[in-house]
Amino acid sequence: MPASILGEGGHLSEAAVTRDTATRLSCPSCGSAFVAQVLGDNGGISYVCTACGHSWS
Ligand SMILES: [Zn+2]
Repeated sequence: MPASILGEGGHLSEAAVTRDTATRLSCPSCGSAFVAQVLGDNGGISYVCTACGHSWS
């Protein structure tokens, strides 16, 4: 079942990234630790809360 294997791999990878950033950041809006780092247009780093969707930099 190639589809299920790809789906599970993507999910595990995403979870690993979330856990790595969660130790350092928390959302200023809802307080969740599920925060992802996102590269901005000019090389800066922004943060996006995966729980409530709030983004900041
Ligand atoms: Zn949030």
